[in-house]
Amino acid sequence: AKQAGRDNYRLYSTTLSGPTLERVRMENRLRTALANNEFLLVYQPKFSLNAQRMVGVEALIRWSQDGRLIPPCDFVPLLEDTGLIRQVGRWVASTALMQLKAWQALWPGLTMAINVSAVQLDEADLADFFAGELNRYGLAGALLEVELTEGALLRDPEQALAFVNGMRSKGIRLAVDDFGTGYSSLSHLKDFAPEVLKLDKSFVQPMASDTRSAKLVEGVIALAQGLAIEVVAEGVEDEKALALLAKMRCDTVQGFYLSEPVLASALSSTQGAARLS
Ligand code: C2E
Ligand code: CA
Ligand code: CA
Ligand code: CA
Repeated sequence: AKQAGRDNYRLYSTTLSGPTLERVRMENRLRTALANNEFLLVYQPKFSLNAQRMVGVEALIRWSQDGRLIPPCDFVPLLEDTGLIRQVGRWVASTALMQLKAWQALWPGLTMAINVSAVQLDEADLADFFAGELNRYGLAGALLEVELTEGALLRDPEQALAFVNGMRSKGIRLAVDDFGTGYSSLSHLKDFAPEVLKLDKSFVQPMASDTRSAKLVEGVIALAQGLAIEVVAEGVEDEKALALLAKMRCDTVQGFYLSEPVLASALSSTQGAARLS
């Protein structure tokens, strides 16, 4: 009886106290949020420096709570821990592609980038799901870009490669997100052959004041050019960084200086593009 009592106590203390109870509550709130459609997407435009116009958008998730928008850093990790990200990730893809379809009339050829979590890569039919959604809206695969971090690609490289190959057979493009912050290695560029590298903002932001950051950016752009990989610089926050990136012949730029992420209804190709010329 004493043993049982102790176990009981242990069970009690680990499941119903402190952070664990908080976690269970939070998980339930996230489930409700999903059922009640409380998630929404905002879109941040990306601009071609060469064409001087908006060429794509990145979809970024928010949780709308009592009129406030909760940022992903406050709930995406828990979605990942609980596996709920699988369901949410499919909702993200469907919602973003439905929106992209509507935008094709306004901006033909506009591309959509979505973020995919490492956790989602064990879904064997994920690439087929994306292809099904593209089909449903009559969109070419090349209009969809899937952003994966280096960490996500390396967690289970074989699984990741199978996913990437599946996507590629549908024409979907792979972007390596936060490039430079993970375990960057040239062999990953060889193995995964991404169509796009997204230079992490920790290199782009300080470009204006820090020569070493600027040199690193310049080096990555040169490397990517040699491999015919498109480079997107994220975190462009000022005029100087933009000017440097233009001089380095970076393909695509994204950042607060051009436009913050906005609700679909607020997207306009003009506001940010004006800063390019
Ligand atoms: P990320 O994919 O690296 O997204 C870029 C983040 O940088 C976004 O933050 C964006 O709002 C922010 N950003 C854009 N321009 C600038 C700039 O000029 N300066 C600075 N300082 N920041 C800028 P956000 O929207 O809070 O997203 C944070 C992270 O949450 C994303 O990082 C991504 O890892 C994750 N995330 C967002 N949406 C999704 C999603 O639908 N699914 C998954 N799995 N993860 C998502
Ligand atoms: Ca991203
Ligand atoms: Ca990023
Ligand atoms: Ca990031």
